[in-house]
Amino acid sequence: MTASTFTILRQCINCGQMFESKKTTTKYCSHKCNQKHYKLRKKLEKKERSENLLTAQSTAQKLKPKVKALNYAFIKEKEFLSVREVAYLFNCNIKTVYRMIENNNINAVNLNDRMTRIKRTDIDLLFINSKKEKPTNLTVYNSYLMTEIVEKYKVSRNTIYNYGKKHNIRRMKHKGKTYYSKADIDNLFS
Ligand SMILES: [Zn+2]
Repeated sequence: MTASTFTILRQCINCGQMFESKKTTTKYCSHKCNQKHYKLRKKLEKKERSENLLTAQSTAQKLKPKVKALNYAFIKEKEFLSVREVAYLFNCNIKTVYRMIENNNINAVNLNDRMTRIKRTDIDLLFINSKKEKPTNLTVYNSYLMTEIVEKYKVSRNTIYNYGKKHNIRRMKHKGKTYYSKADIDNLFS
C-alpha cells in the first residue's frame, strides 16, 4: 500500500490517543505503544491459555483502548447529542441521563418516541452551574408552585421563569405541575 499525501486522524489501539497517520492501517501512535500492546496481548493470551479460556474475542475485548478518544472528539464537535452520547460524556448509565431529563436537570427535545436530542451547550452549562453544588432532594413540601411564588413575592410568572433559568433554580415536575425549590426562591427574592 502506498502512503497517501495527506494525513488522517487515527486512534491508537493501545493508549486511545489520537494521532496523525499517512496510512489507514496504522494502529499505534508510537513504536512504544506497539511494543506495549504486543506484550500485553501475549501476557493475556498466556494467562487465558493457562486458565483454559483462550478465545480471540475475549482477548480483543480486554485490549480495547482505555480512552475512546475518537468517539469523544466526535461528540465534542456535535451540536446535538443523543441520550447515549450524553451518558458516554458523563461516563454514566443511560437511565441516569433519562432521570436527569425527567427531573429537569437537562433540557431535552423529543423528536419522536425513540429520539431525544440534547443541546451540547446545555451540558456545558450544567458543569458551570454545578459549582454551586446544590442537593437535589426536592419534594412538594420544600417547594413552591408558580402561583405560590407569584402570591408571596409579587413577581410575574415570566420573571420567575427567567430568573429560574438564569440562577439555576432547582425544580421538579410532579403530577404535571412544576415545583420550585423554596430555599432557592427565598434566597433569590427575599
Ligand atoms: Zn499510543
